[in-house]
Amino acid sequence: MNTFVPTRCLLAQRRVIFPQLAWTPALTRAMHIQSIPMWVGTSDNYAYLVVDDKSKDAVIIDPAHPSEVAPVLQKAIKDGSINLKAIVNTHHHWDHAGGNSDILAQLGIEPPLDIIGGKDCQKVTKTPKHGDTFKIGQGITVKALHTPCHTQDSICWFMQDGDDKVVFTGDTLFHGGCGKFFEGNGEEMHKALNVTLALLPEDTRVFPGHEYTKSNVKFALSVSQSQAVKALDVFADTNKETQGKFTIGDEKKHNVFMRPQDPEIQRATGETDPVAIMTKMRELKNNFK
Ligand SMILES: [Zn+2]
Repeated sequence: MNTFVPTRCLLAQRRVIFPQLAWTPALTRAMHIQSIPMWVGTSDNYAYLVVDDKSKDAVIIDPAHPSEVAPVLQKAIKDGSINLKAIVNTHHHWDHAGGNSDILAQLGIEPPLDIIGGKDCQKVTKTPKHGDTFKIGQGITVKALHTPCHTQDSICWFMQDGDDKVVFTGDTLFHGGCGKFFEGNGEEMHKALNVTLALLPEDTRVFPGHEYTKSNVKFALSVSQSQAVKALDVFADTNKETQGKFTIGDEKKHNVFMRPQDPEIQRATGETDPVAIMTKMRELKNNFK
């Protein structure tokens, strides 16, 4: 699906497919976000191209597979539809930041693009502090949200253009799930999901680093039979791509890692402390077949 999909179309589509979700008011502004699925072999990653509609200034998020991403960028640069300003990474893993050098070489832009990401990302040039902001063109404000756990250098990128709000969550938050705790613990993931990301506006659309919704909801059904989880199951069954179709508000309803207050989740984990719940829930998911 390598085409520009204006935000309003996505929202309209979501209302049709998922009518039980709350109505989202019409937006006064909308970011252009192009998903670039990188589904070579066993990979199910997404890169995202984010474009400021007035200036055409743009960033590419996690372009890990240059063979799929570089042609899209080259065409857009050539036909004048983007001024590519930076590569942005969500964390250092190869399937997110491992294409940085190759992309730079293939695009041959001078001076080389900034690479904005966590400290361990390939060829990184800028690592914003938690809460730091920068602009894409004049319209889009980007805020760095440090969410260490999956990796210690994980950063979620919250972007706002007028009323339109999105967050790119890499391998920290997925629709209906979360990333493995490779470099962190339950306390850190609880803070990342249930404090840092949970405090974002409810209508912030979520763009994760992988298409994992189907497997996430399969696990979620094993610990919760809520209407929200069942609705996500139906959606994942009928939509190959689910990125950006759900908001932070939706995740608080159907994501079993974001419901430590839910008696059903407390029963399933045998815990009541939110950190203990997060730790146990991840163990259950790791062992789920
Ligand atoms: Zn990762």
